[in-house]
Amino acid sequence: MALLVQKYGGTSVGTVERIQNVAQRVARAYHEGHHLVIVVSAMSGETNRLIGLAKAIQPHPDPRELDVIASTGEQVTIGLLAMALKQLGIKARSYTGGQVPILTDSAFTKARILNIDSRRIRADLSSGHVVIVAGFQGVDAEGNITTLGRGGSDTTGVALAAALHADECQIFTDVDGVYTTDPRIVPEARRLDTVTFEEMLEMASLGSKVLQIRSVEFAGKYKVKLRVLSSFEDKGNGTLITYEEQDTMEQAIISGIAFNRDEAKITVMGVPDRPGVAYHIIGPVADANIDVDVIVQNTGENGLTDFSFTVHRNEYQKALEVLNNSLGKAFTAREIKGDNKIAKVSVVGIGMRSHVGIASKMFKALADEGINIAMISTSEIKISVILEEKYLELAVRVLHSAFELEKPIAA
Ligand code: ASP
Ligand code: MG
Repeated sequence: MALLVQKYGGTSVGTVERIQNVAQRVARAYHEGHHLVIVVSAMSGETNRLIGLAKAIQPHPDPRELDVIASTGEQVTIGLLAMALKQLGIKARSYTGGQVPILTDSAFTKARILNIDSRRIRADLSSGHVVIVAGFQGVDAEGNITTLGRGGSDTTGVALAAALHADECQIFTDVDGVYTTDPRIVPEARRLDTVTFEEMLEMASLGSKVLQIRSVEFAGKYKVKLRVLSSFEDKGNGTLITYEEQDTMEQAIISGIAFNRDEAKITVMGVPDRPGVAYHIIGPVADANIDVDVIVQNTGENGLTDFSFTVHRNEYQKALEVLNNSLGKAFTAREIKGDNKIAKVSVVGIGMRSHVGIASKMFKALADEGINIAMISTSEIKISVILEEKYLELAVRVLHSAFELEKPIAA
């Protein structure tokens, strides 16, 4: 008997029939004798619909009221799933975030969980109930409803697993695990049986949409045993996120190819090459709360240099505006150029720490296809390149085969 937290995403609870399927799956685990806490998202598309309603009234919705609205999607699915379980003769009880309560800070639309009071949940589990908790939401110290950011139900699941010291947190979704890359681009992509926490964190931040990045951070902090599984298949062990490199297992050098289309590049040309340049350009951008990703400064000529960086595509126009407004004040430059038809491709692998030659292999594979690299950034376990968006899929395919990711790891 184990204590399991299972989280079901929007597509898994997208219709009445699917909710009934989830109930069947939960019922099986219940009859196996497990204690179960189930976290659900809103029905797929519902959160977007709710946000759309809010924006129809207020183009920039009041954040507190937006959370009041956006959190209702999950209130529907917890009730429906509880009923579906009762129909199967299983005792079940649903809770909103505020009823648990899941205490958060007051940063509406992106609140952080501060504390979970697990007493009601534990009491229900002891009396044989399946406990169903609304994902994505909490309550602040003043009793205001908060939400945890898009995709936040993953974080609710992981946080509950941490608070309850659950044996495993199982994230049920529409894919059966974490893949070496997106199978829609590379059909030979392989499901990974395990992926290290560090790799998962990189993949989540590099654009893999399987898990909300905050949930991965949370899992790492509390060493939650986290597994990604399909809610549409009965077999398969999904992908387990691991914490130590197991020396009994041969570790692949590269685990996956991640990519992100949501980037845009800005280049400030002909800026004086002297101390403070980077600060004077990035400072106003940071002050405007715009996140900057890859940064490159070239060695200049005649005392002038070019300075490039990338931002999220949604913030591209705003970043250009901020820079144009600071031009001539915070810094001087010949020209500010932008390009929002770029993408980022990254190779990720914990094994690259101890291997030289990964970068040259990557660059050669891209060069062989005539793909130009605009920017490069590296960390201990990833190398990212910025390239023209039209080459993205080709780049992912050639890198996947250059690193032979379609082949199973030799045991
Ligand atoms: N329903 C929320 C969203 O669509 C939270 C989630 O699904 O995890 O972002
Ligand atoms: Mg999700």
